[in-house]
Amino acid sequence: MQILFMGLPGAGKGTQAERIVREFGIPHISTGDMFRAAVSEGTPLGLQAKQYMDQGLLVPDDVTIGIVKERLSKEDCDAGFLLDGFPRTVPQAQALDDVLSELEKKIDSVIHLHVDRSLLLPRLTGRRVCRSCGSAYHVIFNPPKQEGICDKCGGELFQRPDDHEDTVATRLDVNIKQMEPLLAYYREKGVLHTVDGDAPIDVVFQQISKVLRGALE
Ligand SMILES: [Zn+2]
Repeated sequence: MQILFMGLPGAGKGTQAERIVREFGIPHISTGDMFRAAVSEGTPLGLQAKQYMDQGLLVPDDVTIGIVKERLSKEDCDAGFLLDGFPRTVPQAQALDDVLSELEKKIDSVIHLHVDRSLLLPRLTGRRVCRSCGSAYHVIFNPPKQEGICDKCGGELFQRPDDHEDTVATRLDVNIKQMEPLLAYYREKGVLHTVDGDAPIDVVFQQISKVLRGALE
């Protein structure tokens, strides 16, 4: 069960990933965790990656792919894995295919958790933070009892510049543009499964489970 998980920010990947890991007993491998582990273990590739990150530079593909290969070679990936946040480009996807074939593995299914852009915007712009104590709220998912006021300390809630609609919209559009060729790549390979992410959490999970059980047969 070698799975790639794709979806835009706010589509609910984190919640679903947790459930997949629990239900199917495969490790959730996210790019961030993988980098952090390689850096803290001080592997040669981890140290290389750190040099780039410390300078605020993008880690080059060959280093990233090396780290992915090391991670996927570990024993806990023998029964499968849920890879999340990588690849981000078609060249990376091709390099991943090469690495996997060296390891005698392959991507069985790509799960694309799809939520329409117009539904993602309110999810991603709804965060409010207390000026006084830093408590976080969300106007849809975790609203304060009184609009604009912190439940805990009575402080004023505000929207961080990062959460403003124009910033979020730009970030989303960059992500959409980046993801399209990747979706096409996996569609052509016949492994792409699009799941409607705009449904209750349980329903989404049932859809994902169905795809994954299909992959087992
Ligand atoms: Zn507060």
